[in-house]
Amino acid sequence: MSIVVQKFGGTSVADVDCIKRVAKRVKRTLTEGNQVVVVVSARAGVTNQLIERASAILKNPTEREMDVLMTCGEQETIALMTLALHALKVPAVSRTGWQAEIITEGIHTKSRIREVRGGDIRKQLRAGNVVVVAGFQGVSDHGDVTTFGRGGSDLSAIALAGALRAKSCQIFTDVEGVYTADPRIVPNACKMPAINYEEMLELASSGSKVMQTRAVEFAQKHNIPFEVRSTFSNKTGTTVKKKVKSLEDTLVSGVAIDKNQVRLSITELPDRPGAAAAIFKIMSETDVVVDMIVQNVARNGKANLTFTVPTEDAFRAEKALKAHFLDQSAGKLGKSTNIAKVSVVGVGMRSHSGVASKFFEALANAGINMLMISTSEIKISVAVNPDNGDDATRVAHQAFDLGK
Ligand code: ADP
Ligand code: ASP
Ligand code: MG
Repeated sequence: MSIVVQKFGGTSVADVDCIKRVAKRVKRTLTEGNQVVVVVSARAGVTNQLIERASAILKNPTEREMDVLMTCGEQETIALMTLALHALKVPAVSRTGWQAEIITEGIHTKSRIREVRGGDIRKQLRAGNVVVVAGFQGVSDHGDVTTFGRGGSDLSAIALAGALRAKSCQIFTDVEGVYTADPRIVPNACKMPAINYEEMLELASSGSKVMQTRAVEFAQKHNIPFEVRSTFSNKTGTTVKKKVKSLEDTLVSGVAIDKNQVRLSITELPDRPGAAAAIFKIMSETDVVVDMIVQNVARNGKANLTFTVPTEDAFRAEKALKAHFLDQSAGKLGKSTNIAKVSVVGVGMRSHSGVASKFFEALANAGINMLMISTSEIKISVAVNPDNGDDATRVAHQAFDLGK
């Protein structure tokens, strides 16, 4: 019998009715002759509520305790989902991340999966049980509970699918697949039948939260194909895999927006080798992922440096930089500002020119000012004022004729 991994996100298990609906779908997959591993998220909004409660007590709570707290959300769902399966007379057992022996390393709240041992999942499947695993959580070598970063249940599903050599890994969510842009921002966005890991990774890391970036990285590294599809319909979703035909003909495949970016600026940076390196060394030691970077030409031996970091890391980044700039000869930390980053992504960019000019011209025609620009081989990103973010996304989508 082959194993199918089905992951259900927060909106798919938002309340008891949703959970009952998902249990019916799982039962169908089982009766079609599969062994089923279900991975669930916390109910929609629960993880945020838990985080808010912690910050009502302490502004900067320790990350270890945040992991203990945040994992409660998924733990509630595995029990409810297992009970919903029992109500349908489906034999099922729940397993936490540590019972599934998802072994992690690295810092709390952002830990990395080192190994998936699986605990007794295979045995339970052979005994005819559906195994309902808590997403987003694992266990460190010290026996501490850990989490994989927001949206991390995607990673749990993909890692389990890889470890169990599953026939398929299905990521069920509240949209019908991966679209050319977030359908909530661009109503005429199109569902893509298939997309390769590389483009999915660029879209995810540029803000398309339909898939967690680290989950796509893991899938690409271990070549674990998966499908993104809707919990609320039976339509085929988007397959994400290694190779997809005729992508080269498409200049731009999708547009992404990331509203969770903060721009940090440093002034009076001494114009000498090592000054910028020292700053990025601090960011790396603080586990902050730096994204767009701009350094201007120095005047009178001093330069300005601006870069963006995820909003969730901004506090940590600023705290570390403030300590560094106690020595004022190293430079000065300026005011941080929120920005929105809009990116166009497509492997076709490798072999075609003119993408940047088309993108920038469209923004200019819409009167949208660009604050920063960065590029990679298959992506062009611009930072804009957050108030212009959604408009810039629609303008880019239109410029590359991606609509229905
Ligand atoms: P889940 O709780 O199921 O993990 P998420 O909220 O994390 O779901 O991700 C689904 C959401 O991702 C959609 O509701 C949609 O608004 C958003 N999204 C952003 N970019 C895209 C895209 N390119 N295609 C589809 N959905 C997208
Ligand atoms: N519950 C976690 C979150 O909200 C993980 C997930 O939903 O994938 O980020
Ligand atoms: Mg998600």
